[in-house]
Amino acid sequence: MDIAGYRQRIEGELKALAQASAGAKADRAPVELDQQSVGRLSRMDAMQVQAMAKETERRRQGRMDTLHAALKRMDEGDFGFCVACGEQIAAKRLDLDPAVATCIDCAGGSRQGA
Ligand SMILES: [Zn+2]
Repeated sequence: MDIAGYRQRIEGELKALAQASAGAKADRAPVELDQQSVGRLSRMDAMQVQAMAKETERRRQGRMDTLHAALKRMDEGDFGFCVACGEQIAAKRLDLDPAVATCIDCAGGSRQGA
């Protein structure tokens, strides 16, 4: 198993997510618009943008947790094994997503291949 390669992918994704998160920070800021220069609709637009940005950030943080957990498993020597049943996770499955924590059976998926 190419753990170094998986680690590289995970660290690369973490870096990209952190950058995206920092870059979108302004979108998540509380909506404070000058009521005289912008109308009510613009304010609603801004709030909608903010809500979407927050949801995107929530998902981003969740993914980052998953990636950090995978790195932790690497450090502890548990990487590549299902956290639920302890069986080895199929290489194909790890190739698709190195941060995946469960084998195909425990994930409950019926996707073929892995
Ligand atoms: Zn399992």
